[in-house]
Amino acid sequence: MHNTPGFLSKLLLFILVVTLPVAILAIWMVSHDILSLEYGLLLTLTPVGPAVLLYNRLLKEIAALTRKMGYAVVNPLDANDPSNTDRGGLLPVTDFLLTMQQYRRVLTKSLKDAEESQKDAALLFNILPNSVLVLDHRRRVVQFNNAATVFFGRTNMEGDLTTYLRNPSLIKAVDATLAGEITGRRVEFEMVGEVSRHIAANVVAFDSGKSEKLRVIITLHDLTAIRKTEQMRVDFIANASHELRTPLAILIGAIETLLGPAANDPKAHKRFLEIMQAQSTRMSQLIDDLLSLSHIEMNEHSRPSDEVNLGDVLNSVESLLAAKAVDLQKQLALEIPEHPVVVAGDKDQLSQVFTNLIDNALKYSRDNSTVTVRLKDMGKEARVLIIDQGEGIPSEHLPRLTERFYRVDSDRSREMGGTGLGLAIVKHIVSRHRGQLDVDSVVGKGSVFSVTLPLNQAKNSGSSTLSEL
Ligand code: ADP
Repeated sequence: MHNTPGFLSKLLLFILVVTLPVAILAIWMVSHDILSLEYGLLLTLTPVGPAVLLYNRLLKEIAALTRKMGYAVVNPLDANDPSNTDRGGLLPVTDFLLTMQQYRRVLTKSLKDAEESQKDAALLFNILPNSVLVLDHRRRVVQFNNAATVFFGRTNMEGDLTTYLRNPSLIKAVDATLAGEITGRRVEFEMVGEVSRHIAANVVAFDSGKSEKLRVIITLHDLTAIRKTEQMRVDFIANASHELRTPLAILIGAIETLLGPAANDPKAHKRFLEIMQAQSTRMSQLIDDLLSLSHIEMNEHSRPSDEVNLGDVLNSVESLLAAKAVDLQKQLALEIPEHPVVVAGDKDQLSQVFTNLIDNALKYSRDNSTVTVRLKDMGKEARVLIIDQGEGIPSEHLPRLTERFYRVDSDRSREMGGTGLGLAIVKHIVSRHRGQLDVDSVVGKGSVFSVTLPLNQAKNSGSSTLSEL
């Protein structure tokens, strides 16, 4: 403090201010002969010593006060100032400090509240399931949430919006919003990439009041799954109508022929009635499959709990299809372990799964070949393999095989009386049983359809063989 610039001149000024009234009094007293000149001088100099002490004391107290204020400014959240050694003095330092501490407490609380709400806002921003981008007035990304990093597959997102999204309609909407021409807009567009995605973006003007320049918030919604479901529903209705219309058209044609040109031709009667019978059976089969598919879909979430011995199910399916195998000149070989292999399931639905798969194997395999049905106990799972020696299925068709009405060879399927719904039914039943359907196929050699189901552990105490595919 003593190094303060002008310390000496300030001290002299202070002494002058303190001694001036005494000096004036002394001059007055000397001039009126009340005091001699020596005593007058002595009286004038008397306050100098206390003035220096007083000035020094005041300086120290002001220095301590300044230090404490400095500490409070640098550490606004710390109430324990290590230099807090105030012992009272001339100035009301304690009162002043108390007021300051109160002020500091209020400030600390407001700061903490502000920090908390900032944290809450950041948390909320990050847990939003949709991607959110905040753009500044120059269209640069200045903030983004966790969903956005996942969506764009990046940890950091900086720079112009067009680095990440280039759709012209979106850019136009952002520019118009930033220019204040509109308050926002919803834009839908396709994002092409490895997997194309259908996106809806909500562009909204964001005026926080803090900056004069407008900002923009973009929220992205991935509509790919919804659009796919919508498309599937439309396709399904179109396919089902088409599948029903074809036999119906043949039926109508046959009836018209019977009523018209072939009315008096007994030979033609038989032929056309046979056609009508085949087409009405096909329609009835299609309606049965559609109904069972919708029934299975409705119950897919509830897992069946009856104990079903898979060996019994396969034996009964074999007897059901034995005649068909003979008709098609195929052999059916069943390989079942001696001990019971029990799963928690729905017997009728599991019979439908194996009927559809074995029926397909019989339909699509070579003449005079053998279809093998093998049941395996895998310890924790049961596996049923349906192995045929047919023409096989090209690999590009495999991922789509279980789609409704999907066929590798439509003519062949229709000729064999297929509806194109068999594998869709299989997939839904297997999924209801928390199982898995796998297809392995080699063109020119044949296919292996395998159904894996979790075993009902308590009921398979006899099982001991652990074999792999
Ligand atoms: P479909 O009633 O036409 O048989 P599915 O849903 O049961 O309908 O089968 C769909 C398509 O998968 C069939 O049309 C056929 O092209 C093919 N497919 C199914 N099983 C086999 C198999 N074992 N071998 C060859 N192709 C098969």
